[in-house]
Amino acid sequence: MIEMQPPIPIARLVMDVLKLSRESGGYREFISKFGEYVQTNLGINEVIVKDGSQSQQFSPIEETALNTNKPYTENGLSGYSATELIEYSNRGYKCCAILPISKDGKVFGTITMLSKDEAGFAPDHSTLFSIASEIVSSEAGSKYERDKSFNVAKYFDASFSNMMPQLLISSEGSIIRANKPALNCFDRNQKELYGAKLSDIFELDKQSVELLNKGSIIEAGLKADQGKSFEISPSRINESLLHLMINETSKAKEAEERSKLIDRSNDQVFMTLDKDLSISWISSASNSMFGINGDLLVGKRFTDFIKVPTTISDIMQKLSGTRYYGQITLSFGNDAELNANLSAYKSSGRIYCIISKDYERILRFAQGMTDDVIGLSNDPMIEIDKLGYIVSHNSAAETLFKLGNGTEGTQIYSLCADDESRAKIATSLSVAANNGYIRDVYVNMIELKDRTEVPCVQTVKAILDANGRASKFLLMSKELLTKRRIEQIEDAKERAEDEVKKFKAESELKSQFIYNISHDLKTPITNIMGFSKLLLTDGSDTLSKEQKDYIQIIYDESERFLELVKQVLDVAKLQSGIVKLDLQQVNFNEIKNNPSIKSLAEACQNKGLEFSWVVDYDVPEITADPNRVIQVFSNLIGNAIKFTEKGSISIRVSRKKGSVSVDVSDTGIGISKSDIPKIFKKFYQLKRGLIKQEGSGTGLGLSIVSEIVHLHHGQVRVVDSDVGKGTTFRFTLPIKPKIPKKTLKYNKAEHQADAI
Ligand code: ADP
Repeated sequence: MIEMQPPIPIARLVMDVLKLSRESGGYREFISKFGEYVQTNLGINEVIVKDGSQSQQFSPIEETALNTNKPYTENGLSGYSATELIEYSNRGYKCCAILPISKDGKVFGTITMLSKDEAGFAPDHSTLFSIASEIVSSEAGSKYERDKSFNVAKYFDASFSNMMPQLLISSEGSIIRANKPALNCFDRNQKELYGAKLSDIFELDKQSVELLNKGSIIEAGLKADQGKSFEISPSRINESLLHLMINETSKAKEAEERSKLIDRSNDQVFMTLDKDLSISWISSASNSMFGINGDLLVGKRFTDFIKVPTTISDIMQKLSGTRYYGQITLSFGNDAELNANLSAYKSSGRIYCIISKDYERILRFAQGMTDDVIGLSNDPMIEIDKLGYIVSHNSAAETLFKLGNGTEGTQIYSLCADDESRAKIATSLSVAANNGYIRDVYVNMIELKDRTEVPCVQTVKAILDANGRASKFLLMSKELLTKRRIEQIEDAKERAEDEVKKFKAESELKSQFIYNISHDLKTPITNIMGFSKLLLTDGSDTLSKEQKDYIQIIYDESERFLELVKQVLDVAKLQSGIVKLDLQQVNFNEIKNNPSIKSLAEACQNKGLEFSWVVDYDVPEITADPNRVIQVFSNLIGNAIKFTEKGSISIRVSRKKGSVSVDVSDTGIGISKSDIPKIFKKFYQLKRGLIKQEGSGTGLGLSIVSEIVHLHHGQVRVVDSDVGKGTTFRFTLPIKPKIPKKTLKYNKAEHQADAI
């Protein structure tokens, strides 16, 4: 343990400190050397040096010393001392002194001295500490300034490796640093240039030097080369350093500089204006930026193209010999208006302008557009900030996620259903920040109100700020059908199918009922007919003429009734699925010779109507139930005869793709357009002053036609009808119908039904 030595004489301390300062490079080295010096020369047990520039944390006691700018001394450390000092006390130290090192508000650090000497620091020590603190601070301060200047110089070396010649000038006016372009420009090497006076290089009078020192731009020629002239712009770095930017203004150089600039820039237009503000030269970027060839602008006054906010003369007034920077709106007579930034500076009676696109304004405009897009879009969109807080959302997002008012400021992550989705969104944000956007990310979101899951596929797009950095993100979500919704749809489908089944069953039941009733009616009618026939033949002697006539009426009406019942039975059979088709090869030429058709043809002729039956040569045989096909013909031809008084009835059979088409045409009374859709309905008969028909119909004929044709997978309709001129019915039957087996098989019921 080194015992604390008595304080050294003040004069010696000052000498030693100054020597230490001289021997140290930067202030940091100096402070740490001072720490070592104190430890050895004052017999301090431990010295702690804290460097302020290293952003070290100072304890409250150290902060106090720094704020008051006075050393803090505490003799007799104990468990009652300030928290940070108790620690020293626990380590066996008896006294502590903290020296603040700071100057002009700049903190360099603290030096804490700890001693195990029971006697503590003597008053002499305190004086010494105060002086030491003062002198170290002041030396550190000047070292810091020097370091700063040195750093500035290094900075210029590094940052001004561009083509502009630059110089650093000391307070005595000599060159202490020059960048490469400056060396080239003045055609000197470092040795020749460093230490030389500015006036050794340039033609400078006293007044120009004074202007430079005041910060004004001056123009000067070169001593060595009279042809070259320069613009020198000064900026003061500190008391001892002046930075000069040298811009060669001589003609040759200017042209060269220009071409360099032109090469470099596509979104900047450079131009030179003469004294009268007319454009004397303009770079070729004019084409792309202004949409107008630069040659056409040369000679024109630049002022004429500025719309907002001011004229160039105002700008130049503001310029008053120096520089101008501001926003302008340009228009060149074409449609486009261009928002741009203008930097202008005056030199040698000319104005040099650089016009660059105003990206900030474009960005603001884009932001406005983004807001519109978000608002108007039907896709759910949520705008969030970098931390994932919702900034805004559109109404589609409101509906999808059930976002209420005041959702702004809610974390997007709270809308996620699970951790995986949260992680996916976080990743998407960082990908979008780097790549601009990321698409098709599957995430499970939730509705904010009832917290139902909303699986989505998302696109995340970064919204950039003026510096091109992602400041916000746009989340576009497309909802995927949830399992629940698919189930809902399936439920609805099942319900609909049930309804259809129920309806079918009911309708079958109804047909079955009609079938049963009709069937039961047939027996009594047949009996009535049988007995009335018997009466007519057997009782011909006993019955009066009048009685015989009545019985004949009973017989005729019963026959009509039976016909009606048969038809009702037929429709019911067809509809209830009892009818099975007996498929065979059907030839249309042979059908013509069928007895039923033949008798219809006869009836036709009896009525004085022409009858024709034409089958095209290419009509093939079809697969169908021949009896049912004949029934279709019978009903249609029967109707045609019924409703035609003069003219003709013609049948025309032709081939269509995969089917055979049959037209049954008459020249009868016709059917109005509004009635056509009704006639295929059961029991439908048009009410009109019909020519009374013998045994006129039941309104079931066309229903039967329609049922039979559909059973064969064919179609029937009225293709042409004019009231008073006639009607054409057309039915088509497939050549080879794909009829389900169950409709083909004969069953017992069918045999019985047919047998009746
Ligand atoms: P109906 O047994 O009364 O003939 P349909 O079902 O066969 O029953 O016909 C329904 C109605 O369609 C007929 O009452 C008639 O008004 C009309 N109709 C059918 N065919 C013709 C036709 N060729 N010309 C004019 N009207 C017809």
